[in-house]
Amino acid sequence: MSGQGNVVLEVRDLHKSFGHLNVLNGINLKIEKGETIVIIGPSGGGKSTFLRCINHLEDYQKGEIIFLGQKIDRHTTNLNEIRTKIGMVFQHFNLFPHMSVLENLILAPTKVKKIPEKEAIEKAKKILERVGLIEKIEAYPDNLSGGQKQRVAIARALMMEPVLMLFDEPTSALDPELVGEVLEVMKDLARSGMTMIVVTHEMGFAKEVADRIIFIDKGVIVEEGTPDEIMKNPKNQRTKEFLRHIL
Ligand code: ADP
Ligand code: MG
Repeated sequence: MSGQGNVVLEVRDLHKSFGHLNVLNGINLKIEKGETIVIIGPSGGGKSTFLRCINHLEDYQKGEIIFLGQKIDRHTTNLNEIRTKIGMVFQHFNLFPHMSVLENLILAPTKVKKIPEKEAIEKAKKILERVGLIEKIEAYPDNLSGGQKQRVAIARALMMEPVLMLFDEPTSALDPELVGEVLEVMKDLARSGMTMIVVTHEMGFAKEVADRIIFIDKGVIVEEGTPDEIMKNPKNQRTKEFLRHIL
């Protein structure tokens, strides 16, 4: 077991509501360097809100979020710096449509991190090789398939050398035949030691690379365990029912 020094993110008793709607009701999670955590659960259960709280796209009412030893809340003054270390990939790719793949990749590193353009381009080429899209470097998003767009979105996140990657249903908007190529890139990333939290119902992916699966329903962690524990022998009735629907 690794010590406290390897903790990337710790969430303690996180509560989040929108007006009178309680969305997160006491979430606790600790993730160490190199771990991959898969979050599953019914629609509306608070999965996206949880990810959005982590990089403070949403404020919260109670609890603590500690990233690399630093508390993230409304008082955090270096949020932009923290966000460069947390890569986020959404269901809808959010690429800039008027920019080429290369321009999409080098924008944040050159503007936010002030990396020289030449260096950023070299880095972009390496990362595009890694996600299998070097031949699309000059292409525009409109001319890419959904799977290619999502691989570009992952590449763009990697350009910032994040310490933690958050994925919010990255393959759920894709045609079935394009899901595999995106999952392959994510598996490669997980195996290379990236720390990742992935909201997905792709249980094959979870089985292959997740250290833990967390089932969230109605804003609480109902059950968590290894893929084997959760998929073969779920203990909670709600987990059982949910898995029956998706497997
Ligand atoms: P999931 O990702 O698990 O489907 P979400 O986190 O998107 O769940 O949503 C959890 C609940 O919070 C839902 O009831 C949703 O309607 C509500 N919600 C999400 N975002 C907002 C918002 N900005 N304002 C009000 N309610 C929201
Ligand atoms: Mg969601």
